[in-house]
Amino acid sequence: MSPRACVDVRIAMKCTCLAATLLLTPGAKLAANPTPLEPMGGTPAINTLPDAPPDTTAGSAQLVGHNEADPVQTVSSKWSAIDILGTLVEPGTRRKLHWNAGQSFSGNTINTPVFVVRGAKPGPTLCLTAAVHGDELNGVEITRRILSYVQENRLSGTVVGIPIVNLLGFSRGSRYLPDRRDLNRYFPGHPTGSSASRIANVFFENVIRKCDRLVDFHTGSFKRTNLPQLRADLTNPAVRKFTGRFGATAVLHKFGGHGTLRRAATDAGIPAVAFELGEPSTLQLDHVEFGVKAIIALLGKLGMVNRFSLWSEPQPIYYRSRWLRAHRGGILTSTMRVGVRVNEGDVLGVVTNPLNNEYAEILSEFDGRILGRALNQFVLPGFAVFHIGIESRDIDENVDSFATESMEPYYGSDGDDIDEPLEGQEDSAERLVDEELH
Ligand SMILES: [Zn+2]
Repeated sequence: MSPRACVDVRIAMKCTCLAATLLLTPGAKLAANPTPLEPMGGTPAINTLPDAPPDTTAGSAQLVGHNEADPVQTVSSKWSAIDILGTLVEPGTRRKLHWNAGQSFSGNTINTPVFVVRGAKPGPTLCLTAAVHGDELNGVEITRRILSYVQENRLSGTVVGIPIVNLLGFSRGSRYLPDRRDLNRYFPGHPTGSSASRIANVFFENVIRKCDRLVDFHTGSFKRTNLPQLRADLTNPAVRKFTGRFGATAVLHKFGGHGTLRRAATDAGIPAVAFELGEPSTLQLDHVEFGVKAIIALLGKLGMVNRFSLWSEPQPIYYRSRWLRAHRGGILTSTMRVGVRVNEGDVLGVVTNPLNNEYAEILSEFDGRILGRALNQFVLPGFAVFHIGIESRDIDENVDSFATESMEPYYGSDGDDIDEPLEGQEDSAERLVDEELH
């Protein structure tokens, strides 16, 4: 079956005005900052807001595609401590735990913080992981802000946050583990495998298996940037339902490469998404704020906080994407921004030979939207420059028809590689993606 492109419009509404209004409500008061998180320190970059009062805009709520909360335990007497990493975390408390991420070359044990906020009321366990690639910083800050936002005495369910999974890479500003392995190729890992496989296994077995839902934060890699977007296996009904709870965040269908955390979690029955935002090695506050807003919307939709998020934009969903490549070497220059809609034939950028001044244009081969792009830089022929989410002109090519007609992988099982190529194997990874898409 050929790939079918589609855009699903999930109606949602923006929350900004409602949140501002609630702050001015006489009965509302600013809550004290919850227990400061030790490694984060300082003042949270966002205020810790009181939860909103019960939603009084039920009519509007009906417009939201996935407004229902997940089924949760309703007998509060059964709500008890969660046993994680050998520690019982009681309802209405938060704890800083540690995950043993192996040993350094000096033999010292590396303990990575895991923050557990156990709500006073029953609900799902949402896990947030960031910096599995140690140079991807936006998710670290999003996780920190969400951990500061949730209040254990008002939370229904549990938030488990691991702001820096790959602490060994993070401490060196590197995507990789010290042995140059990509941790996000080894999940769920094995207890007697390679160093990376053992680290992945300990983390997966002791932390991830405690999750009911997983959001794994990433950025583009290797001088590339991404529009904020969810990567998810939309042929999995539970995953697809999960993606509908992030407000207007774009969704790109990808099965997920073998060994990626989200793929391993999904395979283990834990609906998971990779949340891509921006570029590595820098902190982009606009992306951070977008991510925080999306996760707060998610918490509301899961019934974990009593907050109703409204987004005015529809949620675009892309079942198909393609990379446009440079066909000449030289310096890439482009002013096109991620998120821009393009048409077939549009000039997206120029590659100029710095020695003879010859140049070649990069033309869009599709109607669609720029989901990711390479930063301006020197490129070789074949370098993947623009990632285009391809929209369908056919209204009948909707999500439901796709989901029912095509449950088997149609472009392989490794769609994330372009953003997360194997070390030293970027070309083969990209070729694989090409083959999958053709
Ligand atoms: Zn990544």
